[in-house]
Amino acid sequence: MQQCDTLILPGWCIPVEPDSQVLTDHAVAIDDGRIVDVLPARTARQTYKPGSVIDRPGHVLIPGLINAHTHAAMTLFRGFADDLPLERWLRERIWPVEKRWVSAEMVRDGTRHAIAEMLLGGTTCFSDQYFFPEIVAETAAAMHVRAMVGTPVINFPTPWANSASDCLARGTDLVHDRYAEHALISSCFAPHSVDTVSDAGFAELRIMADQLDVRVQIHLHESQAEIAASLKSTGLRPLERLSALGLVNSSLLVVHGVHLDAAEISQLSAARVSIAHCPRSNLKLASGIAPIARYVTGGINISLGTDGAASNNALDLFDEMKTAALLAKAIAQDATVVPAALALRMATMGGATALGLADNVGSIEKGKWADLTCVDLQHFRSLPLYDPLSQLVYAAGSQQVCDVWVAGRHLVENAELTQVDRNEVLARTSEWQRRIASRTAEKRNEQQR
Ligand SMILES: [Zn+2]
Repeated sequence: MQQCDTLILPGWCIPVEPDSQVLTDHAVAIDDGRIVDVLPARTARQTYKPGSVIDRPGHVLIPGLINAHTHAAMTLFRGFADDLPLERWLRERIWPVEKRWVSAEMVRDGTRHAIAEMLLGGTTCFSDQYFFPEIVAETAAAMHVRAMVGTPVINFPTPWANSASDCLARGTDLVHDRYAEHALISSCFAPHSVDTVSDAGFAELRIMADQLDVRVQIHLHESQAEIAASLKSTGLRPLERLSALGLVNSSLLVVHGVHLDAAEISQLSAARVSIAHCPRSNLKLASGIAPIARYVTGGINISLGTDGAASNNALDLFDEMKTAALLAKAIAQDATVVPAALALRMATMGGATALGLADNVGSIEKGKWADLTCVDLQHFRSLPLYDPLSQLVYAAGSQQVCDVWVAGRHLVENAELTQVDRNEVLARTSEWQRRIASRTAEKRNEQQR
């Protein structure tokens, strides 16, 4: 008998690699944080002597979901500004409230809330883009979740840094150097959008990203207004400008990519650029509907993101998988595109590839980190059960997540957080709500006087 830390025995296991496979009565053995075996349950019981056995009949085990784009701390601004177009939402509501409230304390509390929420919804890894990235990294590491922490790069002064150069230097010192060898935390540069960084800033960013061998994520071709503004100020479409600056390569993660023409789709595919598709944020801000089936046919790797809770308003990959599949079918007028297996792939392997983590996470394979999510399918909304893969994407919801492991650590058990005091996190959120709401009311009164 071989020793292992944990043996999970789910009713079904969807490993994602190989594609579309649903294993019945299989076991996953975990040791030292990694998956050491995927094998028939009966053989597993005869082969392994586990420290603990997690028996989950009627449940499906999937790779932990990967949120390829969010702004975790913005969870504290959830519902603060709704029903506005992107430009007005940003300039009239979000940037002013950020200017007033963003601090290390706010980022820590907002990120803790977001991580707790994501874990309970089956997400084990997120790609973040926000001020005080060193606090995001520290918080994610302390809560034992996987994160790619993006250093924001913006020309003008923010509560965190004074210029694009300042952002780059701080990101390198405070995030990259400190976590270069960390098992859970990686870093990237995250220029907000093309209109917030100058050509000189992008040139400096490119040199540093190449030197450090880190990825670059940017909101790009999110709205027609963004493309029109770029054409007006530079004569170039945003992607054209990034390309001229040498930034279109396999390290680039295009966030949104809602509006891409045929030549741009070919360009991204040839350069092996990934897209973080955020369908619900695009719908809410009326940015448009990305023709995802065309991107898939064109050979672009697609990952899924929630964007921040201020523009979604959830951090729920189950919502995104379902919305991505349904929208892709509607816009292509073809019900066969983005089937359930592909939607799940986008939320797992697609995300791992986009974040440069495909060798380590994204599927249930021997040797990868045990980042896993177990979903209860014995639920009104997913019964009867003819096809677990189909039920998972089209019928199940995040409230059916039963267990979550990150690098083998059991962070959610029976739908409860094992290592985070939920009341303490929610009390901090209430305190922020009180502060932000009272200041907003005060300001409104001043304006009316
Ligand atoms: Zn975003």
